Amino acid sequence: MGSEKKIILVTGGSGLVGQAIKQAKQQDPRENETFIFLSSKDGDLKDPAATQRIFERYKPTHVIHLAAMVGGLFNNMKHNLDFLRNNILINDNVLQSSYKLGVKKCVSCLSTCVFPDKTTYPIDETMIHNGPPHSSNFGYSYAKRLIDIQNHAYNQQHGCHFTAVIPTNVFGACDNFNLEDGHVIPGLIHKAYIAKKEGKPLVVYGSGKPLRQFIYSIDLAKLFLFVLREYEEIDPIILSVDESSEVSIGQVAQLIADAFQLEHGIVLDDTKADGQYKKTASNKKLRGYLPDFQFMPLKDAIERTVQWFNLNYNVARK
Ligand code: NDP
Repeated sequence: MGSEKKIILVTGGSGLVGQAIKQAKQQDPRENETFIFLSSKDGDLKDPAATQRIFERYKPTHVIHLAAMVGGLFNNMKHNLDFLRNNILINDNVLQSSYKLGVKKCVSCLSTCVFPDKTTYPIDETMIHNGPPHSSNFGYSYAKRLIDIQNHAYNQQHGCHFTAVIPTNVFGACDNFNLEDGHVIPGLIHKAYIAKKEGKPLVVYGSGKPLRQFIYSIDLAKLFLFVLREYEEIDPIILSVDESSEVSIGQVAQLIADAFQLEHGIVLDDTKADGQYKKTASNKKLRGYLPDFQFMPLKDAIERTVQWFNLNYNVARK
């Protein structure tokens, strides 16, 4: 594998995960690797001709495929058809161009939220197609699940080395901090920023009891580089913290309030609905490969993200 020249095209390179990969590869550089980070300004990957032009221009040997239509609960519920079609188009164009231009390895990105709604815990890699996803985001989920089907079909018919990773909830710098449409941690960080200004407590929707596994974007990026450089399977791999690192929404909110040194702490508004109680994913497969990988403690990762948001408030997506 060693010194062959690699040109690594990162689709969706301007987003939360893409920017973290940019940082992680600077911390762990390899002489033979050249990375190209794309944003939607480089071309619309829903368009097959535009996608092929990008691939012909950069002639990648490797692809990290992150670009996707991503959104919060309400956006998903209202636009399941758009999430389905746009993501199917993006994925099909990226994989077909990868095949046509002779890409040696393509690592795409699924998500633990595409797993069956009714399932047993912990969730593992073998369970993706075992039943319908949650009805709120079925469009996004089926489009993402199809990547796994495509990876196996490209491998079977053309011998392509296309695979995928399955992250749990990601957070970090360059996230979408929108109050209505962001994910839990960036949404709470933005709320806490406002609460701090107004001298109020951080109001957390729901009982605070649901459990989640959160992965810091830089940890995820390091694991992405491992998969790109060393993972040989076509079957996907879950990239998550250990099951013992699952935390409640209440605990996460408290860490965020502490990072902002909120005088009035947090208040739980349990008139608002809780989401699913838990979605525990198993990282046993990952631990088989990397038994000693150290995840950043949640407290430190949240403090870094809060610091980034404070410093970049004007330019942050929100
Ligand atoms: P972001 O929303 O931060 O970034 C999305 C990226 O995709 C941006 O670079 C965006 O470009 C690009 N993009 C979107 N549509 C198009 C298009 N039509 N053509 C070209 N580029 C496009 O996403 P994340 O970094 O959070 O997510 C990256 C991947 O990780 C996605 O596949 C997502 O499904 C997956 N994932 C994310 C999780 C999370 O918690 N965030 C959890 C699990 C999986 P631009 O900046 O120009 O708009």
